[in-house]
Amino acid sequence: MSPTSSSVMLECKMMPYGKAQFLLIVRDITQLKQLEQIRKDFVANVSHELRTPLTVLQGYLEVMDGEQQPPAAIWQKAHGVMLEQTRRMDSLVQQLLTLSRIEAAARVQFDQEVDVPAMLQLIATEAETLNRDKQHKLHFSIDTTLKVTGAPDELRSAFSNLVTNAIKYTPAGGEIEVSWQRDGQRALFTVTDNGEGIAAHHVKRLTERFYRVDQARARNTGGTGLGLSIVKHVLSRHNSQLLIFSEPGKGSSFSFALPPELVIGVQTPKKRAKF
Ligand code: ADP
Repeated sequence: MSPTSSSVMLECKMMPYGKAQFLLIVRDITQLKQLEQIRKDFVANVSHELRTPLTVLQGYLEVMDGEQQPPAAIWQKAHGVMLEQTRRMDSLVQQLLTLSRIEAAARVQFDQEVDVPAMLQLIATEAETLNRDKQHKLHFSIDTTLKVTGAPDELRSAFSNLVTNAIKYTPAGGEIEVSWQRDGQRALFTVTDNGEGIAAHHVKRLTERFYRVDQARARNTGGTGLGLSIVKHVLSRHNSQLLIFSEPGKGSSFSFALPPELVIGVQTPKKRAKF
């Protein structure tokens, strides 16, 4: 049984102490066991996620090897499926690398300026390409003067994941609003969609690695289940956190606020103390 947050696991050892006495050593190993379980689940998930596309590829390659060659139409379909599965593996490996890079990285150096408006301009262009099949109405409302400090690649990944998800998980013809604005002294990023929304019991698990509301559908959209866990990591490294509001049947809103000390031009007591 895997240890839960409410159970405590103890390790007991008896050690000889003096001539006729024993010392009982009791150690709380709850956290150790939980970490071990997380590691095991992670390896099992990665193996499963890689195995599925590999099985499909292997199946088609075996057919190619057979004596009776399938007709051209089947070849064409096989080629399409193999390409899709290869892309899926590629995006999984990319996301895993991003996650491990962020986890292994030292603390963010907040001396680098991040031109978020320019970054969002690029993301908007990429979103248009992704949106070709979906035909959503995309609105970008960007404060072009609002820049921050932080890790550019990491922040880019957070912005991009949230915009991409809104496009992927909103049925065709939806409406998506992306906003980057001042909220007092903070910088607020919000992506709102009018998609199908997410039930509350799923919302609280969305940032877990490999968690997907609908496994099969998310896989078809090319989802790996790692995007939001990357966003969560990036935000905690930038002293922020992801807020999710969602109503089934109405849509979702994903947002985060970067604190005043990261916003360029805002004088916080901490910043002033440096000079
Ligand atoms: P994935 O790579 O599967 O998209 P994420 O970690 O980015 O992984 O998202 C986890 C799950 O959260 C998705 O599989 C999807 O079920 C759900 N989700 C994320 N964004 C939205 C959204 N805007 N609307 C509805 N569901 C969403």
